[in-house]
Amino acid sequence: MKTLSRWAENHTWDGVPVVAYKPEGTTFDRVTRQVLFEGDARLPCQWRYFEVADGGHSTLERHEHVHAVMILRGAGQVLLGEEIIEVGAYDLLRIPSLVWHQFRATRGQPLGFLCLVNVTRDRPQLPQAEDLARLRAHPAIAAFLRI
Ligand code: MN
Repeated sequence: MKTLSRWAENHTWDGVPVVAYKPEGTTFDRVTRQVLFEGDARLPCQWRYFEVADGGHSTLERHEHVHAVMILRGAGQVLLGEEIIEVGAYDLLRIPSLVWHQFRATRGQPLGFLCLVNVTRDRPQLPQAEDLARLRAHPAIAAFLRI
């Protein structure tokens, strides 16, 4: 990785590829990922920028590792546990261990956010039918998951 990558058009950085959020799957929609900093032994974290296009969403997931998130662009909603949170640029979010979370660009804008994770981390868990049933028992969450 270069010492300097300049900010470029459309929330990209010089020399940083924009890739699909995940190589395959149907649990997300219209999300791109850029790895801004790749960690090493002296800084064992990875710093990514995700962008959810208007109307899109990330995967509904949970995992043991935590995320430190800063919204960088646009607006949208985040499901965090049993809460639906309105977010906008520069808001900070901590996603705790094993808490269900999903980002949705529901406000007529893209939702772009920085996300810091450990290099060493467990794979995300996807909700099983009983997890979804439990979440959908909350009317607001049921509506959120239908958007
Ligand atoms: Mn996650």
